[in-house]
Amino acid sequence: MHRKLFFLCLLTGLLAFCAPYGARYLQERAAVKDVMSTTAQPETVETADLLVDVWITQEDVCQSVALEDYLVGVVAAEMPLSYEPAALQAQAVAARSYLLSKLGKGSHENGADICTDPGHCLAWRAPDSQADAAAFQAVSATSGQVLTYDDAVAQTVFCAMTGELTESASEIWGSSTMPYLTNVPSPGDAQQEDYVTTVTMSPEQFWQAVSPLSPDTEAAPLVVLRRSAGDTVLSCTVGGVQTTGQELRGLLGLRSARFWLDYEGDTLCFTVKGYGHGVGMSQAGAQVMAQSGSTYAEILAAYYPGCTLCKITF
Ligand SMILES: [Zn+2]
Repeated sequence: MHRKLFFLCLLTGLLAFCAPYGARYLQERAAVKDVMSTTAQPETVETADLLVDVWITQEDVCQSVALEDYLVGVVAAEMPLSYEPAALQAQAVAARSYLLSKLGKGSHENGADICTDPGHCLAWRAPDSQADAAAFQAVSATSGQVLTYDDAVAQTVFCAMTGELTESASEIWGSSTMPYLTNVPSPGDAQQEDYVTTVTMSPEQFWQAVSPLSPDTEAAPLVVLRRSAGDTVLSCTVGGVQTTGQELRGLLGLRSARFWLDYEGDTLCFTVKGYGHGVGMSQAGAQVMAQSGSTYAEILAAYYPGCTLCKITF
């Protein structure tokens, strides 16, 4: 553990110097343009043996895993490995940044740095060196690269498929500390075959699913009170009981809280767009950008505006 604390101290100091190094290393543009005029030299931090404590929730065990090895399992579990290399590389940087932003935050009661519950942290599976070669390559090609904002590693959340406009962390989670998680266009999402899904259910099925809310079954099944800029249902009433779109999404098993209700006779028909919370990088949108020739740095700059791409030496 002391090695991890040592790393964090070094990381804090390093972030003041790393941006111009990132600019040279990557020879990329928008995200690092504002720091090109500085002349500070980077420090070298040897963190090849940095271990993170991973809580494998499926087995309820904690393991200390080398950071970059762990990231391979995250990329393999989080994104189809048939995606373009640039999309996989963007995923690797986003996952690395997210993980480093979580270190030392006490996010888990058992002391783990990160867990493998995708609903809480990041999906993960034990990688296979042959089948998951693309994940190994994406992590290796971006080794040590992270996104920063205000001299701190950015908490780069992501999801499978946003709407045509990504959501802001301030609207979805009430967080005002991550201005880089804001509404940005994600035009590739609507091109996906499964962008729109439909879920139908009888009134009996609906009231059974929402019974944990203790609704009045004589009241209207759903009244949407407020939507976000990206169309996510923020608040609504279900059988007269106020709740959130995310809560109702979970109870009904919908792919996102970007839903609309219609009726066919008595049958309730939910039309759902996207997949996931809608904040940060859209994995599907990243793939579309990569197919159009965007680099991973361009993808990251599009989805995390204002962040700087830099490199920590491993
Ligand atoms: Zn977790």
